[in-house]
Amino acid sequence: MYEKERQELVDKISKNGITDVYVLKAISEVERHKFVPEALLPHAYKDVALPIGYGQTISQPYTVAFMTQSLKVQPDSKILEIGTGSGYQAALLYRMGAKVYSIERQFEIYDRTRKLLDELEIRVNTKCGDGTIGWEEFAPFDGILVTAGSPNVPPSLQKQLAVGGKLVIPVGDKVSQKLRIVTKVDVDKFETVDIPEFVFVPLIGKEGWKQQ
Ligand code: SAH
Repeated sequence: MYEKERQELVDKISKNGITDVYVLKAISEVERHKFVPEALLPHAYKDVALPIGYGQTISQPYTVAFMTQSLKVQPDSKILEIGTGSGYQAALLYRMGAKVYSIERQFEIYDRTRKLLDELEIRVNTKCGDGTIGWEEFAPFDGILVTAGSPNVPPSLQKQLAVGGKLVIPVGDKVSQKLRIVTKVDVDKFETVDIPEFVFVPLIGKEGWKQQ
């Protein structure tokens, strides 16, 4: 179902500058319509963010593609995602061959998405909790992807990144953010690139925003 719409979406985001063939392939394969509320099915393949309930959103496909491309995922990379939300981003990473760990703060969203991922046989490790402090038990990660906007880069996430790994995180105020790509070049050495103008829901937690 929706193959034509999915292909049109791939064409659109590749025209807008996404070049990583593995990212584009994953987008052509993962059924985004399974991750959006039923009432929004006709909009599932538009290049827009959509509400998923509880004040949260499934991110815009272009943004998801851009962040995933920035991570430089290899098959077997160990990736930590903060903000499971609908599960769509986690599903893409899984499709690209990554070992995925994903944390969601809101129990209702965590619970619903956990069931959906099981149903779709998408094998990612999930937990409900505050992702700003990372997931120490499975660190270090080859890549960390934060899908909510933060006032700063949480130090715990920098610590849990493997040397050579990348952390992709929207940083800014609550209205708009830059996408920050942090590469850990050595144990205590980081290189940073900022890309302007992205909009995300807030990252709430110990090392993020204190409240909504
Ligand atoms: N990756 C998601 C995007 C979800 S929006 C997708 O593909 O659909 C961001 C999500 O981050 C929301 O569900 C929100 O509840 C969650 N979130 C916010 N702060 C968080 C935190 N500190 N830890 C984990 N999840 C958090």
